Amino acid sequence: MKAVRIVKPEQLEIIDVEKPVLTDDNNVIVKMTAAGICGSDVGIYHGTNAAATYPRIIGHEMVGIIAEVGNNVTNVKIGDRVIVNQVISCGHCYPCSKNRGNVCDNLAVRGVHTDGGYQEYINVPATDCYILPDSLSDADAIMIEPTTIAIQSCSRAGLEKDDMLLLYGAGALGSSILRIARQMCDNIIIADIMDDKLEEAKKNGAKYTINVLKEDLVEKVKEYTGGRGATVSIDAACVKDSLMLLLNATGNAGRIVTMGFSTSSTEVNQFLITSKELEIRGSRLQNKMFGKAIEMINDGKLDLNGSVSHTFPLTKAQEAFDFIDTRDPSIRKIVLTFDF
Ligand code: MN
Ligand code: ZN
Repeated sequence: MKAVRIVKPEQLEIIDVEKPVLTDDNNVIVKMTAAGICGSDVGIYHGTNAAATYPRIIGHEMVGIIAEVGNNVTNVKIGDRVIVNQVISCGHCYPCSKNRGNVCDNLAVRGVHTDGGYQEYINVPATDCYILPDSLSDADAIMIEPTTIAIQSCSRAGLEKDDMLLLYGAGALGSSILRIARQMCDNIIIADIMDDKLEEAKKNGAKYTINVLKEDLVEKVKEYTGGRGATVSIDAACVKDSLMLLLNATGNAGRIVTMGFSTSSTEVNQFLITSKELEIRGSRLQNKMFGKAIEMINDGKLDLNGSVSHTFPLTKAQEAFDFIDTRDPSIRKIVLTFDF
């Protein structure tokens, strides 16, 4: 069967690998039908993802059909359309004991530390499979994964109705977070460098927008919050200076959620953290949020239809990654398909 492997940074190859064999009674074989390309996949390809190990069959946004089931499997059956959880945790360590398996001491992420979804079949525990709503195509269902990441960040933020949220970044990550955040909180300020993204965010429920190239972020946030700053800030821009900016833009007793994966050091100011008693919280992957995301779709609170802008067959993965590098403004979500 065909697979896409990143041999080392900047080297992508289409390879033939053995189809997986079902050996564990608790596992299933999923025949992949769609695999999303995420910013972190692009990072693995370009060698800018600190978590990645090579060579790797990448892809952590995985949708498919159950093709084989082990003897003990009860939650899914052959033919079910599913999305596959990317997080593999040990269940024994300190974070796992605190129900924080997404930061397990022995964490493995499919497509990052172990082979992922850019292959025709994958062997996974049945409990990592979640049945898709009928209302979604396989390609659009890929967006459930970024939705879980967004739910995780809002959960880490402890977002409440009366919060004044500053969402920094209106790109793919920021717009996913906005979609979740607006259901929990009415006052959302979104900041970005692109006017068209900001306009779209406004249509999608942001109350105020700030173009940080034209306006002073901290000044504007203060203006929109009666001078006190945001009560909670989420960094969905993940650029070098974003943490320091958010330390300044967040008011006393506020929370700041970081989501970046850059390892380059950046200057922060301890006085801001101490004097305001700020809480800085990381948000990584997602902690059992697939069920929640699917429930929101089934309840009609979330519509992911039409999220995908482009599809490429798996065997044209190189073209897809090259196209992403053009930063074409038409790009929303790109999904690899398996109908080649
Ligand atoms: Mn993703
Ligand atoms: Zn663990």
